[in-house]
Amino acid sequence: MELLNIKNLDMSGKKVFIRCDFNVPMDEFGNISDDRRIRSALTTINYCLDQDCAVILASHLGRPKGEVNEKYSLASVARRIQHLLKREVVLSSDVVGEDAISKANALKSCEVLLLENLRYEAGETENDQILSEKLASMADFYINDAFGVSHRAHSSVEGVTHFFDEKHKAAGFLLQKEIQFFSKLIQKPVRPFAAIVGGSKVSGKLEALINLLPIVDKVLIGGGMAFTFLKKMGYDVGASLVEDDLLEDAGHVMDEAKKLGVKFYLPVDVVAAEKFAEDSVSKLTSVQEIPEGWMGLDIGPATVRLYREVLADVQTVLWNGPMGVYEMEKFARGSNKIAHFVADSYATTVVGGGDTADLVQRIGVDEEMSFISTGGGASLELLEGKILPGVAPLIIEKKNN
Ligand code: AMP
Repeated sequence: MELLNIKNLDMSGKKVFIRCDFNVPMDEFGNISDDRRIRSALTTINYCLDQDCAVILASHLGRPKGEVNEKYSLASVARRIQHLLKREVVLSSDVVGEDAISKANALKSCEVLLLENLRYEAGETENDQILSEKLASMADFYINDAFGVSHRAHSSVEGVTHFFDEKHKAAGFLLQKEIQFFSKLIQKPVRPFAAIVGGSKVSGKLEALINLLPIVDKVLIGGGMAFTFLKKMGYDVGASLVEDDLLEDAGHVMDEAKKLGVKFYLPVDVVAAEKFAEDSVSKLTSVQEIPEGWMGLDIGPATVRLYREVLADVQTVLWNGPMGVYEMEKFARGSNKIAHFVADSYATTVVGGGDTADLVQRIGVDEEMSFISTGGGASLELLEGKILPGVAPLIIEKKNN
């Protein structure tokens, strides 16, 4: 899949609208706790500035649900970009209102404007055409560099592209990199290829799992989603997270794996707790002996040993979803140990998903991974074999003649 390339646009001195993904995690005081997504967008922003463009940046942050809410203001994002770019970044007080339009009109070459949170406008998530048109009217060129949101048909991601022809829109460097990386991973992985899939639920990752089976050699399951599979196998998993309506699907995934010769691994032991809390009583137990009413909140040491053994010979690892409730120290050990092992391996290691990226960063092994995707949901949809709505309008159509 070839995308319209930013390098082929004749943007010199023009106004360019860049859809970024600045949806960064914040602490309770509104400080940015991980600015990876902002740093990842700098290549495209700097490229446009080097072309003497006037740069309009736009992003969403959290879910303000169509209403202005200071909690979701991009003010601290503007400060961080300003710091990283070492040049002034002006923040408009609205998205397509008087302030944004007048600031966009007045914007000169090499100046940077950041629009307020796109989701202050209810039309953004509804792919509203009028909003798309207003956003498009601000600039001569449109660049999508927001991989993390490209699986959403939103106004600033999909609708807006219809107002630019092929000479006036393109994928930014980050979007290009993510798409090329996952396309190659799916088409030509170096084998053996293992997928480590964790996180809370089977439901969010079912399609990705099914699509991964024909590609991978091994699947290692962790996190809350393991219990739906374990229950399907007939184990009594106590009060662990189970999606009863997906038991059949879980069985189907395991049958498919067997048919395709994919080795499918489930935890053999867990850290079980009496309640979902850091201060809960907990104990190590095999998956056969989870006490009634207790819940498995992390993989246990035997599973860690097993998974290390299974991962020892792999050449490619794709990891999406933590092995346990890593946010609570007591249930983070399984995830941490797997993270260290994956980081130390010589395999190509790919981390997809906000939680997994957060986890590897918390323990300081993010630099050791080959690739950390900025989009959890988007990378899963790519692995499901889907063409993302924000990417589709940027694909170069091959002419047959
Ligand atoms: P996801 O968004 O589906 O990738 O899930 C990530 C979340 O799964 C994290 O917030 C974890 O705390 C949670 N999680 C992982 N393991 C478990 C478990 N055994 N029980 C409940 N939640 C879990």
